[in-house]
Amino acid sequence: MNPNLEKNLKEELDELKENDLLRTVDDLRFISSTRAIDNDGKEFLVFGTNNYLGLTHHPQVIKACQEASIYGTGSTGSRLTTGASFEARELENNISEFKNTESTLIFNTGYMTNLGVIYALSKENDVIFSDQLNHASIIDGTRISKASVRIYKHKDTSDLENLIKKEIESNNKSNFFIVSDGVFSMDGDIAPLPELAKIADEYNCCLIIDEAHATGVIGKNGKGTVEYYKDKTGIDLNESVDLQIGTLSKALASEGGYVSGKQVYIDYLINKSRPFIFSTALSPSTIASANAALNLLKENGEEYLSKLNENTILMRKSLNDAGLDVVDGETPIIPIIIGPADLANRFSKELEKEGILVSSIRPPSVPKDMSRLRLTVMATHTKEEIECTAHKIIGIWNALK
Ligand SMILES: *Cc1c(COP(=O)(O)O)cnc(C)c1O
Repeated sequence: MNPNLEKNLKEELDELKENDLLRTVDDLRFISSTRAIDNDGKEFLVFGTNNYLGLTHHPQVIKACQEASIYGTGSTGSRLTTGASFEARELENNISEFKNTESTLIFNTGYMTNLGVIYALSKENDVIFSDQLNHASIIDGTRISKASVRIYKHKDTSDLENLIKKEIESNNKSNFFIVSDGVFSMDGDIAPLPELAKIADEYNCCLIIDEAHATGVIGKNGKGTVEYYKDKTGIDLNESVDLQIGTLSKALASEGGYVSGKQVYIDYLINKSRPFIFSTALSPSTIASANAALNLLKENGEEYLSKLNENTILMRKSLNDAGLDVVDGETPIIPIIIGPADLANRFSKELEKEGILVSSIRPPSVPKDMSRLRLTVMATHTKEEIECTAHKIIGIWNALK
């Protein structure tokens, strides 16, 4: 026992509470892709999940999950030992086909994928250039890597280029990596992939993008950032991106992560990436669910994506027209900047009373005084649900501000 440590922890928690920054876990059960109940059975309409296409409750996905469970509820080991892997192999091949890459490797979460890829590939004399607003799992991957890390200003490719030039001048560095979210998780904006690709080509950098909020979310068929820019500019950047990292837990309606790219990287990771080597593989059901969701996305991508876009545009327009401080953008991640953490908290509590769940995002996830509501719109929300929610948000904002 260490009474001093316990006292210090308690003090830190009290301080968080005083500043409206204490985090607690609420229990929820999803009864459909958009509706959940709490412990008292109260029902909420949810505008805060990453389940962009609502596929967690699609009958075909649930059926695939159930059917795979006859092969056991757990995988029994790491993929390199006894870990059950028929489903994993099938999904990996399916992702490679979808992403038009040579090979894919599944990890247990998107978080572990970033840790496992970044630290395994980057060595002591290497340099990782990382966007200032990259996801925590990328930051943690760069922290456990022995490479040096240079943070460039958010989406600022001239800052990135200057940092690269400086490293070249100070020489004796070996490999350079550029790592960026494809769609940024808190602001919902999209990485400047054409410029990143140009810089990566010019300076021989390995370019890694994290497609967690992009796969199934942007691009005409939901293929992510590369497709988004192909639609927009006609230029195919597929060859310029060395590795695409992603998650199975967002649009793909399950859990797990993946990395997709050239075979040599995948073979190397199988041999050197500790989160892959030393962790039990995902269960057959978990992987089969993701695979079923991916098959649906492949079959109906255009339809899902056009519905998601339609909903996104409607929500953004309704809030903007009412004068709310909505961060501009085109993705279904819709941040409404509130400012102080306590006000953001009160806002989401008021919405909760009205039966709507939206997360309030506070420091350290976002900078101080940039606390926000972070709304996410789904393809399975109805027009009426969106209009009614926008109406309630506007009403509460006018009462609170
Ligand atoms: C959610 C997210 C992850 C983590 O994925 P999990 O599967 O939830 O661990 C990684 N990167 C980004 C950009 C994310 O938004």
